Amino acid sequence: MERYAIVGFGCAGYHCARSLRENGFNGEIHVYTDTGRAPENPMLTTYVTAGRLPEEAGCPFGSLENITRNLGLTVHPGRVSLVSPADMEVRSQSGRAAVYDKLLVSTGARAFVPPMDGQDSPSAYTMRTMDDARRLRARLERGDVKSAVVVGASMVGIKVVELLRQRGVDCTLSDMAPHIFPLAAFDTVAAEIERRLERAGVALAFGRGISGLRDRSEGGVSVLLSDGSCVACDIAVLCIGTRPNLELLPPGALSRDRGGILVDETMESSVPGVYAAGDCASCTNLQTGVPQAVGLWANAGRQGDVAGASMAGVRDVYEGNLVHNITHFMDMDFISLGDRGLPGEHRVYSRRDGGLWLEATTDGGELRCVNILDCKEISGIVRGLLLRQLRGGGAPDILLLEKLRRSGVDGAFIKLLEGEVQ
Ligand SMILES: Cc1cc2nc3c(=O)[nH]c(=O)nc-3n(C[C@H](O)[C@H](O)[C@H](O)COP(=O)(O)OP(=O)(O)OC[C@H]3O[C@@H](n4cnc5c(N)ncnc54)[C@H](O)[C@@H]3O)c2cc1C
Repeated sequence: MERYAIVGFGCAGYHCARSLRENGFNGEIHVYTDTGRAPENPMLTTYVTAGRLPEEAGCPFGSLENITRNLGLTVHPGRVSLVSPADMEVRSQSGRAAVYDKLLVSTGARAFVPPMDGQDSPSAYTMRTMDDARRLRARLERGDVKSAVVVGASMVGIKVVELLRQRGVDCTLSDMAPHIFPLAAFDTVAAEIERRLERAGVALAFGRGISGLRDRSEGGVSVLLSDGSCVACDIAVLCIGTRPNLELLPPGALSRDRGGILVDETMESSVPGVYAAGDCASCTNLQTGVPQAVGLWANAGRQGDVAGASMAGVRDVYEGNLVHNITHFMDMDFISLGDRGLPGEHRVYSRRDGGLWLEATTDGGELRCVNILDCKEISGIVRGLLLRQLRGGGAPDILLLEKLRRSGVDGAFIKLLEGEVQ
């Protein structure tokens, strides 16, 4: 009987196991998980920290017992220390090794903390796993956190700011970039979001990177910034970015690109029989054609599905990534679709405070990046139409275009989604 292994059991790992069974694989599936718990949704960590969701809600696929039984899995709790693609071997930290016929690496990513003085400060927190959520929640429940610096004006950083403000904590949001959401928001849109944040009592410290942390004798920590200034606070939450968890691979064992394991459209790596999916995999960016790891929940799920089908010998392909973010925070909805870094002509289609705010860049009549503020009803439609266009998917759905028209979206923008050059 064939034996397959899945290393890392988050969204991508779970989808792969399910897809293997759905695609008729009847052999053994061995799952390695360092949490020893059911797959978790990192997107929900800020809600669990805030106490708005119970911890169990952070496991969207149910209990580990049910998953194990329903999918017929053998679960190995504990960290994997080595995956050797050359030998198809998985070795756990306890020293036990096993050989498999096919392997999936779905170890996701972790919060990145740059090497710096004070990086292990007891007042420093990160936000990626349920353990992170539990640790920050326990600290907040002590009731002595009055001030915080959140480093990293990212989608994760802003959700942390939101939960801290809801608890009445004074917040400074800091980033080395000059504006919030530097990878996603146009400067004009970022300036509007910043105006609203300041109105809601959030202090902003942009254009200065973090250079270190210093514990204070009276308690709390000083966040040292690259311009020589420092901000004293009770806690610092570091939301600086992520790095794929790939230390378990010997150097050079699998081809990589931009940090992630390079895979083809079936999610197979440079070594036949070894697959990768989720935040640790680099797949084609539909806009640039260049491989890129785009850390999004839906991407991880779809990639896991494709990997499972491919491992089971059923043809399925991953269509490619579109860089995007759809985020709700502090009574705002910010949606960014496409690559903000691509060159293009910037145009404002609508800028109504409290109404639709829509800006985009285009190049040769093609949309490059879209920012939408305050109108989440249209975000899914615009995202779907843009993906259809990038995948060369035929005529757009007229009903969807009509819905955009009725929502007050500018006709010239709709024509771009129809594929007409302006
Ligand atoms: C606060 C926050 C907000 C987010 N918001 C959004 C959002 O709004 N929209 C969106 O699409 N995405 C969002 N994301 C990103 C999304 O959660 C991830 O893209 C997705 O969870 C990736 O799934 P994955 O399976 O690749 O990795 P993970 O969910 O990280 O799962 C990987 C698993 O592998 C385990 N593992 C790692 N190394 C080993 C090892 N050596 N041995 C055994 N096990 C190992 C890990 O512990 C983990 O359990 C957010 C993430 C965070 C943290």
